[in-house]
Formats: sequence, structure tokens, C-alpha cells
Amino acid sequence: MKPPVSANAFKVDVLPEGADPMDIRYNMINWVHRSTRGWSTGGAVSDPRTGEIIKGNVILGSLRDRQDYLIFEGLLSPYTIGNERPEILYQTALARIRQLAAHEVGHTLGLGHNYYDSTKGWISVMDYPHPLEKLQDDGSIDLSEAYQARIGDWDKVAIDYGYRQFPAGTDEPAALAKILNDAWAVDLRYMTNQDTDAHPRVDQWSNGVNQADELNRIMKTRRSALARLGEHTIRTGAPMATIEEPLVPIFMYHRYTVESASSMVAGLDYIYGMRGDGRTPVKWETATNQRKALDALANTLKPSELAVPKQVLDAIPPRPPGFGRHRELFPRTTGDGFDPLSPATIASDVTIGFVLELDRSARMVAQHALDPSLPGLEEVIDRLTKAVFDAPVASPYEAEIRRAEERVLVDRVMWLATGASASQVRAIASWKLGKLGARLRSEAAKGEADSAQNALLAADIKRFLERPAEPIKPQLPLDAPPGAPIGDNGMDWLARPPMGQ
Ligand SMILES: [Zn+2]
Repeated sequence: MKPPVSANAFKVDVLPEGADPMDIRYNMINWVHRSTRGWSTGGAVSDPRTGEIIKGNVILGSLRDRQDYLIFEGLLSPYTIGNERPEILYQTALARIRQLAAHEVGHTLGLGHNYYDSTKGWISVMDYPHPLEKLQDDGSIDLSEAYQARIGDWDKVAIDYGYRQFPAGTDEPAALAKILNDAWAVDLRYMTNQDTDAHPRVDQWSNGVNQADELNRIMKTRRSALARLGEHTIRTGAPMATIEEPLVPIFMYHRYTVESASSMVAGLDYIYGMRGDGRTPVKWETATNQRKALDALANTLKPSELAVPKQVLDAIPPRPPGFGRHRELFPRTTGDGFDPLSPATIASDVTIGFVLELDRSARMVAQHALDPSLPGLEEVIDRLTKAVFDAPVASPYEAEIRRAEERVLVDRVMWLATGASASQVRAIASWKLGKLGARLRSEAAKGEADSAQNALLAADIKRFLERPAEPIKPQLPLDAPPGAPIGDNGMDWLARPPMGQ
């Protein structure tokens, strides 16, 4: 039987002795050791006359694998004796780097990122993949299918569209359109970097289709991994203080799904529609889904979710000499001792900061004006205020976490009240701060620690709203689009800068 014509179209070999990696005849995958876990890249040298890609050049950073390995250690806490070499960690790290290599090769072939959340599930190596871990009934985590060992259905569409040679006489525009229309019919679409902010179904580092459901799912996985975290997360002989290294990615395990769920709030479900294609160019995320996302996001603010488990707090001493603090650890306010509160501050700011982004807040105002059934900015600030200030707590530690979150929320609403370019966003944020300040002043009797907190927050809000020391900065109206010729601040398409993952 003859092999299909595509077999061996590409071969990967070790660079022959004496060959120069800069040689234009060789497409290169460079395995590079760097000082940090930097982005890998896939770039190309193109013929400036035709755009034809002549040489592909990939740089794969080796330290990415160490970070992935660390995350898997944090998810599984796999070291019973402490000197095991769990095969699943090795295999999952390999599966991840295999995907990354295919991703960068995809760039060298001209493919862009595809972050679309298809109902078909995973569709492209050009996505930024989050491990698809599965929480088992017994609380353990299954990584056996964390990464796909193949290219995705969208990748086949993109290569088919970009590279297919049609027989002479083919109506090529019609044949190309058919490739995309067939893909569309099975929910294979292309949405990329610029679509991640406002589109509820375009997300980096996230699985799932409905990101509110996915956030609820991933919070359970995170909780299960956190409950195991401790000495079984590190090898025998490693300093106990280095439990903080896997703690960071596991405590923040939901951060990208928070970003994705936030994009459902005031979300714009759109396509780059063309006249005559018969498709809906844009519709707003439904009220049901927006409120579902707000509920899932509010869940991430429960003080019980932002507590560092006691067995972790008990296990982390100050860092020994030679293992000093570095930027991959939580910042702290407590000097040498691990800070039990700063992780909560940071994680709650991820949630509150993404929900109350300046342009998202302006979209809430606009959507609510045109469709009052959708949540407006007032409702969203109220929802966050309830999630934070009215959160039930089960211990003095959780009460302190709640106070840390309260400060984050007040600061973020102040940020809205000054930073938003939409006047009504600033007006609503200021109004809500005024209400909150009045409430805090009247709640002086909650208990001593809360009274201190409430007094300071109320005083800060009052000072902020009155701004006695600084003149009011006028906000300029929006810029008009340029009239004169436009300056050279765009990208020269011929330069083909490498695209990073
Ligand atoms: Zn990339």
C-alpha cells in the first residue's frame, strides 16, 4: 500500500555534524537553556517579494519543563518516601513540551494563536494549554490526559487552507471558502490574542466552553491539591521552606480561569463577520451567563478558599542561606516569616481586578443602558461588596483574610473612580464608595479588629472622595481618529516578528 502523500513531508533530525544553525537551508528547533522560564518562540525568514517562508526558526526554552514539573508536583504531592521518580510527572512534562514544540513549529508555518473555546473541546496546538487534570472521587488528581499527543482539528483546517495545492481549473476562492465553511459547521473557528479580553469564549490557559462552570470545576481541583500540599510535595533533603515554590502555582491555580470567567461579564460574543456571510457579527453574553460568572467569581473570594492550609503554614520556616527569596514566591509583609495573608490579598486582587477592569466596567454601563436586564456596574460592585464584606468566616484567620480582601476591593473601586475614562464609571464607583464609607462608619460595633479596619477604610474613603489636597484633574474627552497621515507605529508585515508563547 502506498503511504499517503503527506507522509514524511517534514522530518526532524539532530543537526548534522558541521552544519550551521544559521544556514538558510535548515529549519531549526533550538533547545536553549536560559536563566528563567522565558517564552519559547517560532519565527520565520520570509522572501520579502512574495512572503514565502524560507526558513523556520524555533527557540524552545528548557526551563519551561521545570516549571511544568513543579506544577505537577504541586497537584499530586507525589513523594511518599521522598526519593521516588514518579513516571507520571516525567510523562506529563514530555507531553507538554511535545505540544509546545508543535506550537512553535506551527508559528514557523505561519499559524497564529487560536484561543477559541470550541464545543468540540481542544482544537489547536496554537492555543495556550492549561493542563486538563481530572479530579477523581477519592480526591486524587489524574494527569494521564493532561495534554494531547496530537495536533488539533483546527490546525488541520489552517494548514489545508494555507498550503493545499488545487488541481488546475479549480475555482480556488470557492474551494478555500468551502474549507472554512466546513470548519465553521463543526464549531472550528479562529479567534486570537486580541479577542481574549471581551469575548467570553476566547481564553488563554483555560479549558472548557462555559468559563463559569470551568472556574467552579478548577476551584475543586485546587482545593484538593492544596489539602495535600506539604512535605510530600518536595523531595527528601529539600529545604522545607521550598514548599512555597509549588504552593504558589497551586494557590494561584485558578488565576487564568478567573480571567476567562471575567470575560463573560459584559462579554461580547462576536465574530469578524463579513457582509453577505449570513452570520451574526456580535451579540452580548446572556444575563444568565453573566450572573453565573459573577457567582463563580464571588466563590473565589470566600475567605475559606483563600486560607493557606494549616499544615503548609506549620511547615514553612524562614528561607535558609543559599535559598533566598525570589520573584516566583509570594511577596510578604512579615519579614523573614512566611506571610499567611499576602496570598489572599494577591488572589483576591486577581479576581476583583479582572472583574473591575476599566473598559469592562464601561461596557457594563453601556450594556445595562441598552438592555437593563444585563448586570450594570452598580450591580457588579454590589455583588463584589457582598462577596467580600458579608462573607461568613469560620475563624479569626478567615476574618483577617476578609479584612485583607476588603482593602483590595476598596482600592480597586477607588482605581475605577479615578482611572476610568468613562465619566459614568467614575461616577458610579464614587457613589458606591460613598455608600460603603457610610456603612462602615455605622458598623463600628462589629468587634475590635473590624472596628479598626472599618474606621481606617471609612477615613480613607472620605479623604479619597474629598481629595482636599489635590486639584481635580480634568479628564479629556476621547481622541479623534487621526486626520493627517498616520505615523509609522504599526508593524511592517514583511518583518515577520517571531510570535511568542
Ligand atoms: Zn505562540
